[in-house]
This record gives sequence, C-alpha cells and structure tokens, in this order.
Amino acid sequence: MATKEKILIVEDEKDLVKLIRYNLEKEKFRVTSARDAETGLKMARQSKPDLILLDIMLPKMDGLEFLRTIRPEIDTPIILLSAKRSEMDRILGLKLGADDYMVKPFSIGELQARITGHLRRHAGAATNGEAKKTVAIGDINIDFERHEILVAGKPARLAPKEFAILKLLIEANGKVLSRDQLLQMIWGHEKDMEIDTRTVDQHIARLRRKLRSERERITTVPNFGYQIRMK
Ligand code: CA
Repeated sequence: MATKEKILIVEDEKDLVKLIRYNLEKEKFRVTSARDAETGLKMARQSKPDLILLDIMLPKMDGLEFLRTIRPEIDTPIILLSAKRSEMDRILGLKLGADDYMVKPFSIGELQARITGHLRRHAGAATNGEAKKTVAIGDINIDFERHEILVAGKPARLAPKEFAILKLLIEANGKVLSRDQLLQMIWGHEKDMEIDTRTVDQHIARLRRKLRSERERITTVPNFGYQIRMK
C-alpha cells in the first residue's frame, strides 16, 4: 500500500500520541506530532498536513486558541480531542471551525473511521474544484486551487466557509440553492449544533460585503435561498 495522507497530532499526553501514532502508521498514514500549540502552529503552516488532531487542553496556548489562529489560514479538516465533556467547549470548538469532536477516552477504530471520512470528504471537495481551476464572473476572479479571490483586481479575504458557499453557488451555475441545502452541504456534520439557516444568512451577508462592487451578484430568493448571477 502506498503511503497515505499526512496527519498532525497536537497533543501533550505522550501515551495517547504514541497510541494514535502507532495505529495510524499501521494504516500507512504519515504522522507528525507537537506537544504544544505553538509548535503545532509552526508545523501546520510548514508541513501542510492533510488533517489535524487537536487536543483542547494544552499547556499555555490551548486548542481553541490554536483553532482561532489557524482556521482563517487553512481549510484542513480538524478533529478536536478532549477530555472535557463540557458542551460549551464542543460548541465553541465547532463554531471556531473544527470539523469534528471526539471525547476522551475514544476508540481508536472510531477515530480512524472519522479520519478516513473527513479526508475523503475533503479530497472530494478539492477534486470538484479542480475540474475548473479558475473562474471569472463579472469582476470576480476565483482561483479554486489557490483559494484566491480578486474583486475588481483586488484580493478579497474570504473565510473558509464563505469561500465554500461561493463555490457551491458557482457550481450550481445560477440555480437557486435553498438555505437548507447550503446548511446541509456546508455544516452537514455539525447538524446537532446551534447552527440554523440564520447562520447561512449571516455568512451570505459577510460574503456579499467582501465581494464589494460585485455584492449584488448573489441574489436572495425570498423565503427560500440564494443564487449567483453568472453573467
Ligand atoms: Ca491535554
């Protein structure tokens, strides 16, 4: 079997790192690890892992702070690992952009299943984008591969979920997507969260703002959803 994806573990419990590493390496994943968030951030930026396992309780900077820092920079799937059963941490973690959450002690088999699921979903999303690497709509130029957007020649800094919404609207090629569809496609795995269609509206509002002169391209279909004017 060929070597598979690169996984970064940010976790200070040595024995747990050892256990996860052993099991993932057995499955041919390439595993790196950091024992604190600062080192983890450096590694996440430099070695560009395909997935990150992130402990919440870390010395000095905690996992949530790590998440807040890294999320605007990368769209790598992140699975939180935590001994804390606190619902608040779970909600905050997912709101800050984590893709999933495992409460310790968890089964390694379950962890592997989640890892495989997130990697597959993420790769699928990337492949769809590759079909068309760049798109120009009016004054908007999008490079899906490099995650770059220019509006009237100037960069627009979209958060990963704003970018994902824009991508889905473009892939729908002018068809209307309902708020529920967008919710399902972007936040599907978080459906037990305090996330509802108003979250979609808030993201659309931010996306429009960032599209500046092209904001009116995204039109609202009252009581239903959104579409993008392609021409
Ligand atoms: Ca810890």
